[in-house]
Amino acid sequence: MLTVNLMVSSRPRTYSVEAVVVRASDFGEADRLVTLLTPFSGLVRAVARGARKPKSRLGGNVDLLRHVKVSVNEGRSLHSVSQAQSISSLRGLHTGLEKMSTGLYMAELAERFSVEGGSNPALFNQLVKMLQILDSEPLHPLMARWFEMQVLRINGFVPTISQCVDCGAGLEPQGHVFSPERGGIVCPDCRASESDVLLTASLNTVKLLRHMARAQWEAVQPLRPDEDELRQVGRILKEHLQFVLDRNVRSTAFMDEVTRWRSDSD
Ligand SMILES: [Zn+2]
Repeated sequence: MLTVNLMVSSRPRTYSVEAVVVRASDFGEADRLVTLLTPFSGLVRAVARGARKPKSRLGGNVDLLRHVKVSVNEGRSLHSVSQAQSISSLRGLHTGLEKMSTGLYMAELAERFSVEGGSNPALFNQLVKMLQILDSEPLHPLMARWFEMQVLRINGFVPTISQCVDCGAGLEPQGHVFSPERGGIVCPDCRASESDVLLTASLNTVKLLRHMARAQWEAVQPLRPDEDELRQVGRILKEHLQFVLDRNVRSTAFMDEVTRWRSDSD
């Protein structure tokens, strides 16, 4: 993960911000090191001093997947969290292992598409919304898949799924495959010559992907895809995300940081 420290001011600064704790680890004797995802400042890494002491004012509010309002004191090398207030409790999330691991996966995905100082309120709001749904509804096999598609959509990486990514031909009833390398569905005519990894994509799978790219969760929730469709959708999104993350996110994030650094130092 890219961590370029671009602080130009040495003056300590305190501000209050809405955040989700996307990463947390023990630090020193009684502290906790947290990574917060925020709407307008991207990732904020900070130490929550004394958070593991039984009587800490921060209490459980700096635990993983907490949706909180925090006061951050900017330090020269390390920021710190002085106060944390719960915004939504997300209690249901913390009671089931499967829900918790799904929530952690979503938080990690959002983190991987974020950088320090990078504003992305749409991504933040989508994560909060999905954690609240995960908290209040029964676990659904498409929850994580739909969130993956939203992360791709928000960041401009939705695969080409309404036509062949190579020749633009419309969808036929069968014979399509998905190419993570080419970034979309490939028709029977275009699949032959290439040596890239091609994933099976039935017509129902393609339709499901298209629906997930356009629809709100409320319109996806009633769907009950069969095992094959679930497996295909899962594999396609996983491989596509991996390709996008490997090829695009690091370099784009890096270029954004460099551009910001240049404008800051002008
Ligand atoms: Zn084609």
